[in-house]
Amino acid sequence: MTEAAATGNAPIGVFGGTFDPIHFGHLRTAFEIMHAVRLHEVRLVPAGDPPHRAPPRVAAAQRLELVQAAATDQPGFIVDDREVRREGPSYTVLTLRELRGERPETPLCLIVGMDAFLGLPTWHRWTELLSLAHLIVAPRPGWVAPSAGELGALLARHGVDDCEPLHNALAGRILIQPVTQLEISSTELRDLLAAGRDPRYLVPDSVRELIRARHSYSDSPTTR
Ligand code: ATP
Repeated sequence: MTEAAATGNAPIGVFGGTFDPIHFGHLRTAFEIMHAVRLHEVRLVPAGDPPHRAPPRVAAAQRLELVQAAATDQPGFIVDDREVRREGPSYTVLTLRELRGERPETPLCLIVGMDAFLGLPTWHRWTELLSLAHLIVAPRPGWVAPSAGELGALLARHGVDDCEPLHNALAGRILIQPVTQLEISSTELRDLLAAGRDPRYLVPDSVRELIRARHSYSDSPTTR
């Protein structure tokens, strides 16, 4: 376990994703966790080249632009473009190493949905993650927390019941933080947009307008 943070700095949330495109499931989750855990900020980190999945539908620069549009009015939401600027696969462990170097005395909290948590053992150098940051796991419709196996054991060893331990150590704890369950996914949004349907109420208006202006997910303008 990493030693307790001596400075009393409020933890920083790090919320990575392909964000292809960003939607209210991401934003509401980040917002609720920021307040519930008393994070100083949540850094939204779009992946430039996500290593664990098919290539994104839309280029990194455009996905970044959508994240910027989504985050612009929310105090505490910081758009962090380091993975878009960095060459090579967007490994989270590299991002956390960089942030740890920049903020040696601030607890870091990597925020992931339950689906992403269940895939953690496939991540590059995943066993290093908890030495760099805490994990905050957001339940997501359709995904159940592991009770056995490698991740079940990890939860038993590192799990905590409330956010205080995340303030008192730099890294190494896992908190499952309930959030409003929004059954929205980027996959469904891409399908909806490709069919020419309107993403209103699934994404912020600013994101909807940019998608519409760029025709980002469809060859034809959004019509319905
Ligand atoms: P896709 O459908 O393309 O896989 P996605 O909607 O899962 O995309 P990502 O950008 O892959 O979005 O997800 C980034 C992070 O946000 C992941 O940790 C994921 O678990 C989490 N997340 C995505 N959608 C939700 C949601 N509706 N509620 C809670 N967490 C979510």
